[in-house]
Amino acid sequence: MTVGDSDTARPAALRVAVVGGGPAGLMATEVLSAAGIDVDVYDGMPSVGRKFLLAGKGGLNLTHSEPRGAFLSRFGERRAQLTPLIDAFDANALRAWAAGLGIETFVGTSGRIFPIAMKAAPLLRAWLHRLRARGVRIHVRHRWRGWGAGGALRFDTPEGEVAVRSDAVVLALGGASWPRLGSDAAWVPVLAERGVEIAPLRPANCGFDVGWSDFFRARHAGAPVKSVIATTTDIRGATHRREGELVISATGVEGSLVYALSAPLRDAIDAGGRATLVLDLAPGWTLQRLQAEFERPRGSRSLASHIQSRTGMKGVKVALLRERLPADCFTDAARLAAAMKHLPLELVAARPVEEAISTAGGVAFEALDGRLMLRALPGVFCAGEMLDWEAPTGGYLLTACFATGRAAAIGVLDWLRDGAKPG
Ligand SMILES: Cc1cc2nc3c(=O)[nH]c(=O)nc-3n(C[C@H](O)[C@H](O)[C@H](O)COP(=O)(O)OP(=O)(O)OC[C@H]3O[C@@H](n4cnc5c(N)ncnc54)[C@H](O)[C@@H]3O)c2cc1C
Repeated sequence: MTVGDSDTARPAALRVAVVGGGPAGLMATEVLSAAGIDVDVYDGMPSVGRKFLLAGKGGLNLTHSEPRGAFLSRFGERRAQLTPLIDAFDANALRAWAAGLGIETFVGTSGRIFPIAMKAAPLLRAWLHRLRARGVRIHVRHRWRGWGAGGALRFDTPEGEVAVRSDAVVLALGGASWPRLGSDAAWVPVLAERGVEIAPLRPANCGFDVGWSDFFRARHAGAPVKSVIATTTDIRGATHRREGELVISATGVEGSLVYALSAPLRDAIDAGGRATLVLDLAPGWTLQRLQAEFERPRGSRSLASHIQSRTGMKGVKVALLRERLPADCFTDAARLAAAMKHLPLELVAARPVEEAISTAGGVAFEALDGRLMLRALPGVFCAGEMLDWEAPTGGYLLTACFATGRAAAIGVLDWLRDGAKPG
C-alpha cells in the first residue's frame, strides 16, 4: 500500500511524515500542524512518548532556570550549533508552552523546572489530544526501515510492509539508550548507507564499572553515598568538580553526581582505558579537623563507630574506605583523614549505552544545513537525541529535544515555501 499515492484526489495540502513520536517528533508535529500541514506521525511502538513517560517517573525535569550563559554551556562542544535553536525556544518559552496545555510548572530548589504534578502523563495526554484535534494522524506499530523504490518511506507494520510518500520527512528517532522503549538506533546503518555522517553513539549520563569485592557488592549495592564532592580531570587537563549524591551499583557507581561527570569520565576511559574519580567523603570538614577527631582515644569502640561518633559519617562511606584502603591506614589518623578527603576510585568502563539516561553521538551537525535538513537527503530533517550533542541531566536534554524538534519543523516549512530546493 502506498499511503500518499492513494490521496491524489485531496486538495493539495502539503503532507509531512514525522517518524518518531518522542518529545522531538511531537514538537515538530506541533509546529507543522499549527501551520496547516497535514502531518502523519509514525512510531514503531504500540504507543508514542514512552521514554518521555519514563522520564516523568522520577519527576519530569522539563528544563532549568539558570541564566542563559550557564544553560548553554551545558551543551559543551555543541553549544554553538544549539544556541540559536534554544534561544528560539528557551526555558521560558517551554514553560509557557506547557502552560498552554494546562500544565503549570515550578522552579525547584536546585533551579530545575518541573510540572507541578511532576509527571509526564498529564502533559502528554493533553498534547496528543490537541494534536489529534488538529487532524494529526498517529500511526503506532510502524517501524521505519528506510526508503524503498521511488523514495517512499518503508514501514514494517503488523499488517505487513507499508510505503509512505510525503512532501518532507522529519526523523526524530532518539538515541540508543533504553532500547526497549523504542529507540534502538536501527536508523544508524540506514542513514550511514546514504552518506550521512554519524558520530558513534556512546553512553551519556551513565554509570561506570569499578570492580567491587563480592563482600562490598553484596552489602552495599544500591546504597546512596551522600553528600560527597567528586572531582575528575579531563583529557585536556581541565578539572571538573561537583557536589552531590552517588549510588553504589553492583558493578561500580551511578547516580546524579556520576552522571554529571560522565562525559569527561567516559572520554578519559575511551582515550586511556581508565578514569579516576576522586571523592571527598567529608565535605565541610578540613583535613586538620578530621585528623584531630581521629586522634582522640577510641577506647573499646570499633573503628567504624569511632569514625561515626567523631564525624557523623556512617555505613557505606566507612565501608568504601575499608574497600579501597589497606588495613594499616585505619591505625593512622593522618592517612585515614587524608583518604577521607581524597579517595581515588579507578573507573574501568562506562556502562553500556542501553543502560544510560541518554546518548552522545549521532547525526553530525556538519551533515545538516541550518534548517536541520540532511545535506545528503534533501527534504529529510532530523531532530532530538539522534543528533550529535549531549548534555547533563537537569532538564537540558528535553529542552534541546523540544528546541530541535521545533527548529526542524520550521526548517521544513521554510524548505516547502522555497519550493523544496536543496539549501
Ligand atoms: C530514565 C530516564 C529519565 C529521564 N529523565 C529526564 C528528565 O527528567 N529530563 C530530561 O530533560 N530528560 C530526561 N531523560 C532524557 C529524555 O527522555 C530524552 O532525551 C528524550 O526522550 C529524547 O527525545 P527524542 O524525541 O529525541 O527521542 P525518544 O524520546 O527516544 O523518542 C524517539 C521515538 O522514536 C521511535 N522510534 C525509534 N526508532 C524507530 C523506528 N525505526 N521506526 C519508528 N519509530 C522509531 C521510538 O519508539 C520513540 O517513540 C530521561 C531519560 C531516561 C532514560
